[in-house]
Amino acid sequence: MAEQMNLFQLAAPSAPESPPAGAYATLAELTAACQSCHKCGLAATRTHVVVSRGNPQAPLMVIGEGPGQQEDETGLPFVGRAGQLLDKILASVHLDAERDVYICNVVKCRPPGNRNPEPEEVAACKPYLLEQIRLVNPKIILLAGAVAVQAILGEKRGITKIRGQWFTWQGYACMPVLHPAYLLRNPSREVGSPKWLMWQDIQAVRAKLDALTQG
Ligand code: URA
Repeated sequence: MAEQMNLFQLAAPSAPESPPAGAYATLAELTAACQSCHKCGLAATRTHVVVSRGNPQAPLMVIGEGPGQQEDETGLPFVGRAGQLLDKILASVHLDAERDVYICNVVKCRPPGNRNPEPEEVAACKPYLLEQIRLVNPKIILLAGAVAVQAILGEKRGITKIRGQWFTWQGYACMPVLHPAYLLRNPSREVGSPKWLMWQDIQAVRAKLDALTQG
């Protein structure tokens, strides 16, 4: 009996377990796991867990930072002002946010006051994101803003240096782009402005998507 107790104690995990790759058979299973997640402190202040919106079969995946106030209230990513701009950017190249795109974030719960997520919050949530990528299996991943770039590519160079460039990560074509919230703070459309740069980038995304999905 004493021996059995020892074996049991050895097997018991000492810290909350992260789901391993392949942990979820479906996005519905993953969503259910996220809904009851308490792996980091963000769970304490959230109203809703924000997992995704759009089409899980879409060829294009957009990864943002984390939910803001409206996202926390509704349970859907990118539904506030930044989200409305994102939808417009996508529509400018005839991509429908609900039909052609799967939209999610690095962290699924709102960081209080819209601060950037802390590294331990990103680390706790990242296995969910990796599972979303595996299950959606998009042709192209857009990394919106520095937090998404850092989480996936581990790239230390600033977003303004690397936006618009193609990276291959685990076989996926990824492009870092400026975060729509940054564009809201920089409304100029002049050549070289953030909005103009985004226009260049989304056209390159559209062209690559067409090349990858046609023929
Ligand atoms: N900003 C993000 O990065 N994600 C959202 O869902 C909303 C705003």
